[in-house]
Amino acid sequence: MHNPLTTPIKRVVIAGGGTAGWLAAALMKKVLNSAVEITLVESEAIGTVGVGEATIPPIRLVNQVLGIDEAQFLHDTKATIKLAIRFENWKTKGQSYYHTFGAPGKSMAFCHFHHYWLKGKSLGHTADLWEYDFNYHAAEAGKFAQINAKDPVLELPFAYHFDATLYAKYLRKLSENMGVSRIEGKIAHVERYQDSGYIKSLRLDNGQEIEGDLFVDCTGFKGLLIGEALGAGYDDWSHLLPCDSAIAVPSERHEKTAPFTRSIAHDAGWQWRIPLQHRNGNGHVYCSRYISDQQAQDTLMENLDTKPLGDPKLIKFTTGRRRKQWYKNVVAVGLSSGFLEPLESTSIHLIQSAIVRLIQLFPHNGFTPSLQAEYNKQSELEFEQIRDFLVLHYQVNERSDSAVFLMICAILNCQIH
Ligand SMILES: Cc1cc2nc3c(=O)[nH]c(=O)nc-3n(C[C@H](O)[C@H](O)[C@H](O)COP(=O)(O)OP(=O)(O)OC[C@H]3O[C@@H](n4cnc5c(N)ncnc54)[C@H](O)[C@@H]3O)c2cc1C
Repeated sequence: MHNPLTTPIKRVVIAGGGTAGWLAAALMKKVLNSAVEITLVESEAIGTVGVGEATIPPIRLVNQVLGIDEAQFLHDTKATIKLAIRFENWKTKGQSYYHTFGAPGKSMAFCHFHHYWLKGKSLGHTADLWEYDFNYHAAEAGKFAQINAKDPVLELPFAYHFDATLYAKYLRKLSENMGVSRIEGKIAHVERYQDSGYIKSLRLDNGQEIEGDLFVDCTGFKGLLIGEALGAGYDDWSHLLPCDSAIAVPSERHEKTAPFTRSIAHDAGWQWRIPLQHRNGNGHVYCSRYISDQQAQDTLMENLDTKPLGDPKLIKFTTGRRRKQWYKNVVAVGLSSGFLEPLESTSIHLIQSAIVRLIQLFPHNGFTPSLQAEYNKQSELEFEQIRDFLVLHYQVNERSDSAVFLMICAILNCQIH
């Protein structure tokens, strides 16, 4: 009889080798070390989603924990520095604003700087809030330097843009060097214990059987283990964030590498532009209720600022989250755990925090329900906070000419009143 409450967890099997799979492998091996044996199975024939190139500053903590040499990392992943996101045409057409990683001005205990700024404004002071933000000035000037100042006001907090495929490769090399085993093959069948319903093993299409105690589902949107095998359910949030499609295409490197991501609002969604060392990443996220895939592609291609380097790729998604992110002996990490449009580059961060949470609550001696409940509670809160932040982008604008913006505002207004 399989008793999950008393079975020690020694064998971790990671299904999928995109950013989620390899980041899970590297961090878990680094921190849990010999307490677990880690095997990752991935299929080159299936491949990865191939997008996900802009990050937020906590990614630097991952690099620190993994002992990564920053110069080598920047070189190997063709990365650039990111100080902010520039939102263009969001508030009104022709206008832009930044979300920087810095904080404007110097906050005092219990009182953030913007309160002083608002007070100053009421007294006739005319300076813009961003005049006090170093990241804003550096982004506008296209400059960056690593500053180690005692006063955080003088620092330039930053993250990276990197090539998603090179990033997964980089993490794979790191993980394999630490002792993670990799198996190439397509998972064809998921075997479960009859009594507990927990997953016993994964069978590949060549017949090979991979047994494990804990399975980390990193199989992307399909959620092969958490969704297809265990039926953990999915909360669909497309009534709040209705964009359901993206077209992505690489283009030639821009002659000037901007230290920020661009997010350009269009009529039925928005376009990203991510500068890398060897090319730009571009994509159009949109709501297919308002424009066809062809129209979305045309909008993207007409708005590239350099020559395209490949064929555009269409990606369909449903905004939302897996109802139980940890269910039985499966933890969903990455796209299998849910997806929120990449307006604030939060998906890789969600991967990072899911893995850190799993490490902190790791069920070494068996599947204690309280660990699982705590994990799911924290994940739920994190997804909801990011969802609400994204919705705000559409709500706080004056775009009466855009179908998507109007629809989200109407939905929110109905819910508020
Ligand atoms: C349009 C778009 C833009 C995005 N932009 C950003 C961004 O700027 N910043 C950000 O942080 N995130 C972004 N993301 C999210 C980001 O792409 C993902 O979080 C990240 O790439 C992780 O994906 P993944 O590893 O979960 O899935 P995938 O990359 O899809 O990997 C799935 C893995 O599972 C394997 N697999 C699947 N089925 C099987 C099987 N049957 N047998 C064996 N192996 C299998 C595949 O081979 C692959 O290795 C974006 C996502 C989208 C859709």
